[in-house]
Amino acid sequence: MKVCKFGGTSMANGKTISLVADILNADRERRFTVVSAPGKRDKADIKVTDVLYECYNEIESRGVCDRAFEIITKRFCNIADELTPDFDIKATLSEVKAEMEKRRSREYCASRGEYLSALLLAKRLGAEFIDTAGLIHFDDNGILLLEQSIESLRERLDGVEKAVLPGFYGSDGDGNVRTFTRGGSDISGAIVARAVNADVYENWTDVNGFLSADPRVVDNPQIIDYLSYRELRELAYMGAEVLHPESIFPVRSAGIPINIKNTFNPSYKGTMIVANNKLPREHKVITGIAGRKGFTIINIEKDMMNSEIGFGRKVLEVLEEEGISFEHVPSGIDTLSVVIRDEYLNGKMQKVLAKLQETVNGDNIDIHSGLSLIATVGHNMASRHGTAATLFEALASSHINVRMIDQGSSELNIIVGVDTFDYEKAINAIYHAFCHESAPVASYR
Ligand code: ASP
Repeated sequence: MKVCKFGGTSMANGKTISLVADILNADRERRFTVVSAPGKRDKADIKVTDVLYECYNEIESRGVCDRAFEIITKRFCNIADELTPDFDIKATLSEVKAEMEKRRSREYCASRGEYLSALLLAKRLGAEFIDTAGLIHFDDNGILLLEQSIESLRERLDGVEKAVLPGFYGSDGDGNVRTFTRGGSDISGAIVARAVNADVYENWTDVNGFLSADPRVVDNPQIIDYLSYRELRELAYMGAEVLHPESIFPVRSAGIPINIKNTFNPSYKGTMIVANNKLPREHKVITGIAGRKGFTIINIEKDMMNSEIGFGRKVLEVLEEEGISFEHVPSGIDTLSVVIRDEYLNGKMQKVLAKLQETVNGDNIDIHSGLSLIATVGHNMASRHGTAATLFEALASSHINVRMIDQGSSELNIIVGVDTFDYEKAINAIYHAFCHESAPVASYR
């Protein structure tokens, strides 16, 4: 049995939703479907979820959301006209608007895109609509309660033949609707897949699969056929879009594979995301490359730092007190550096530097901003020597200065920090060193 999740571009209009219905009808194993709100129909368009956040802003300032909701009405009426002409969507839309104005909750407003698109697809398929409020549980701080959610969904879906469920939201103990972070319908789909113990979680999107590098940086990057959960997590965290980075947790422990598929090219096999031990025997050394701009590195120097017990704790405590999360902590004998996202340091830099100086009494503390991080990811690094040499050789021959290096002991990735003006050049250099046709392939016995 398969659980399918369709993203915003698949749910964008009546035509694309008809394709979704065809895909679902083509395979009887596709019994449970989770959907996003309608996304962009073209580059200039606006996502329904963004319009709903606008509705909330309007409610906050004027008590009603007539203007922004007009866009919602048009969008869903167009979809319903094409898809389910017998269904009176207007009445449902009025109820939704009234409820949004009554509840005055940002998350409730945002959730209505998924609610309405699930309702319409269920009508079109003649399947049951099952609301995820009351089934996907959050605590009062908006943190997902995974086990409880799996349990509730399992009970509710038991014996159901075919159903459509809205993604992106659930509810807390007081019955308030709570949402995941943006793109969170991927997480909802993964929870449903886990609850019904699906054979595969099909995540339908608008690309043929997970690309081995960002197509805005590298021309025509290869599609990754197989990826492990951990590789996916590394790549998604470092900016590779396609799947929400948190969506692997519900399925990973049960070993349910995720198959990324293209709604607009459904016969293409897509990318399979599986556990390490299910990766094919012949697998490239490097699976993919991803990167992010916008980091700052704080360098702290102090003589005899190595013998000062608790030095690292003191540094990290300053960050904790300021509510700043860090990415990497490369260190030397008398130096310790912390790599932090610029957005976390915004407006706090001077305070952090002063506090650090006061707490650790360093000989020198300086900052280097304009840093980008690039993760080169692949399980097979561990089984093959020379990977780091290939990577640094590629960077050196492109005259790129490496500012930071981090390789975890799991040997799943090598992360390098480069100046942001070298970012594109560095990714291309690494990509071409590893990902061309004759790139090294690791083989297992
Ligand atoms: N509709 C939400 C968003 O735009 C959630 C999702 O599509 O997964 O972020």
